[in-house]
Amino acid sequence: MISCPGTDSCKMGITASMGLNEAIQERIDSMEIDDPLTRAIQIKMSGCPNGCGQHHIGAIGFYGASLKIGARQMPAYIPHIGGRATAGDVAFGKRLKSRLPAKRVPDAVERWLRMYEAERSEGETFNAFAERVGNEPFEVEVKELTLPAEFSLETMEEFIDWNRSSPYKVERGEGECAI
Ligand code: SF4
Repeated sequence: MISCPGTDSCKMGITASMGLNEAIQERIDSMEIDDPLTRAIQIKMSGCPNGCGQHHIGAIGFYGASLKIGARQMPAYIPHIGGRATAGDVAFGKRLKSRLPAKRVPDAVERWLRMYEAERSEGETFNAFAERVGNEPFEVEVKELTLPAEFSLETMEEFIDWNRSSPYKVERGEGECAI
C-alpha cells in the first residue's frame, strides 16, 4: 500500500490520502487474508488527480475528489482497477465510472477482494481477473456505496475526512512539489 501525503502536508491535496491508507490497512488486517495472490495486490492512492501516490499503476488505485451534496461537500475517491509496473511491464489502471465517498472506500476494497477470491480462475492474478471480466462487475459490486448520503446525524461522519474532526471542505493552494 502506498499513498502520497495528501492534505496532511500538500497544498494541492483534495483528500487525506494518508488517513485512507491507514483505514484500508486496518480493514485488510481485520480480513486476515492468507491467500498469496490476494496478498500480492498493490493498492495505491493519491490525494488529488496529480498522481504522486501512483494510483494509476496500482492494481487497485484511488485519487481524491469531492462530492457536492446541497451546500455541503463530502470527501470522495475515483477508483482505478488493473494498473501495474513490474519488471518493465507497465499498464495504467482502468478508471471506473464510480465516485466513492471516502469513508466507504474500505468497504469497496473488501468487496472487490472477496469478489476476486470467489470468482477467479485457478491461479488467476487480480490483474488477469480484472482484464478478463472488465470494469462492469467492479462497478456493480460497489454501486450502492457510491450513492451519497443526505446530511443527518447518522451520516455526519461521511462529511468528515479520514483522520480529521471538522467538516470537509476543498481548500487547495499552490503546490510545493514538482507538479
Ligand atoms: S499534488 Fe501530489 S502529493 Fe499533493 S495531493 Fe496531489 S497527488 Fe498527492
